[in-house]
Amino acid sequence: MKTIGLLGGMSWESTASYYKAINEGVKAKLGGLHSAKICLFSVDFNEIETLQHQGKWDETATILVQAAQSVEAGGADFLLICTNTMHKVASKIESAISIPLVHIADATAEQLIADGITRVGLLGTQFTMQQDFYKNRMTKQFDIEVLVPNEKDQELVHQIIYKELCLGEIHDDSREKYLQIINKLFAQGAEAIILGCTEIALLIQQQHTHIPLYDTTQIHAEQAVKLAIN
Ligand code: GLU
Repeated sequence: MKTIGLLGGMSWESTASYYKAINEGVKAKLGGLHSAKICLFSVDFNEIETLQHQGKWDETATILVQAAQSVEAGGADFLLICTNTMHKVASKIESAISIPLVHIADATAEQLIADGITRVGLLGTQFTMQQDFYKNRMTKQFDIEVLVPNEKDQELVHQIIYKELCLGEIHDDSREKYLQIINKLFAQGAEAIILGCTEIALLIQQQHTHIPLYDTTQIHAEQAVKLAIN
């Protein structure tokens, strides 16, 4: 079994989901007392979040490059960045290490394509919904059309991520707001919704809607299990 490298703590609430999903995946495949070999570096999210909102992405990259190099030195065979947003600096991280990076958008797009879905709605932080690093990759490399909420709804989705989900706060009224936004994207032609922030599945799961949801945390974790075991 290969050792899975995780760059986590963004937030730790979702890193805990990764840890659980990866270990459950290994147990499902190998049974018994088998568990995943994981090398995790968990950063202080307060530092990252402050730099993000100041637009200091190069500084976030410096922190994450160092963390990624520690994960590699710790024996990881490949690396997952456990957040969609910080894939904004994925290429910088990738070029600073010699183990492969498993890109969260690629893993998600491959699943969508396998299911025959070519037009999706995307929920995530404003950085993920507004900037090119994520949407363009889906469109250019996988020919997937990506719809995002209107500006007001984007703001709402973003605030709930940072002010509630990353703090482990799960509120029914926030779930309702997310469901309304999901319904709007569906009405605009989205065939499915990408939960493009690794905390969103803490709030909303498939049982809450008939619209197909693609949970990036689960998909990314499953990809890691496949790579570790095959
Ligand atoms: N975990 C989130 C994501 O998947 C947001 C936190 C962050 O900014 O990294 O985008």
